[in-house]
Amino acid sequence: MTDLAGRVALVTGGTRGIGLATVRALVEAGATVVLTGRDEARAKEAATAAGAAAGLALDVTDAKAVSTVVRGVAKEHGRLDVVVANAGIMDDALLGMIREDAVSATLDTNVAGTLHTVQAAARAMMRKKTGSIVVLASIVGEYGSAGQTLYAASKAAVANIALSAAKELGRSGIRVNAVAPGVIETDLTAGLSEEAVAENVKKTPLGRLGRPEDVAKAIRFLVSDEASFVTGQVLGIDGGLVL
Ligand code: NAD
Repeated sequence: MTDLAGRVALVTGGTRGIGLATVRALVEAGATVVLTGRDEARAKEAATAAGAAAGLALDVTDAKAVSTVVRGVAKEHGRLDVVVANAGIMDDALLGMIREDAVSATLDTNVAGTLHTVQAAARAMMRKKTGSIVVLASIVGEYGSAGQTLYAASKAAVANIALSAAKELGRSGIRVNAVAPGVIETDLTAGLSEEAVAENVKKTPLGRLGRPEDVAKAIRFLVSDEASFVTGQVLGIDGGLVL
């Protein structure tokens, strides 16, 4: 069992789906976990249900707010060991149908939001010269996906944030990795048609869709000492799916 006793962790977008499963996995391993969500009441509710130390309101598109929350958590708990930049949105459309507001919302949330979170985490971790950051990329960021050009491009950028940040932060004792989930059963993918689900399952060697816990367990590994020499990696959590 991974031991995260004494570690302090922050998970953005932790009120549901992969984020909430990650909060639960880190709590289970003994970490003190703070989760954030866009809505304060929902964040507090999720934190109580998952055994997290606190649930705070945070919109990751707001760089100043991200910095304030991350600094606040590090100050209150005296350290910050783990940050999971999980918050993200998906707004699928064929190339010719992508709306301008979807472009800005997706890039602001997925790319800028992840960048703000990694920046703030790095600043907070730099003092103790130790820490581990995980960002949420996607299988479509590597292979591309028809009808998902915008989302896939944003996730390719997210993966690249991990690669570059890992190079910058390694000498400061901070590891940065990405996970690239395949199709995971959450609200994000609830709108997939039955045919799309069947097609994905057919193409997945492990023969099923992923569960939030599948991703959470991999994140828990990456942030733990079990992965002490792992940085700058993009780990596929996809049941072997090749798009
Ligand atoms: P989800 O929609 O259930 O959860 C996303 C969370 O992010 C929600 O809590 C939401 O409120 C939060 N969020 C969105 N915009 C935010 C903002 N501006 N500020 C703060 N929080 C915000 O989706 P999920 O499937 O759990 O996805 C979690 C992450 O995993 C996302 O980054 C997603 O792109 C990525 N991912 C998911 C899948 C999948 O198949 N579900 C596959 C690959 C990658």
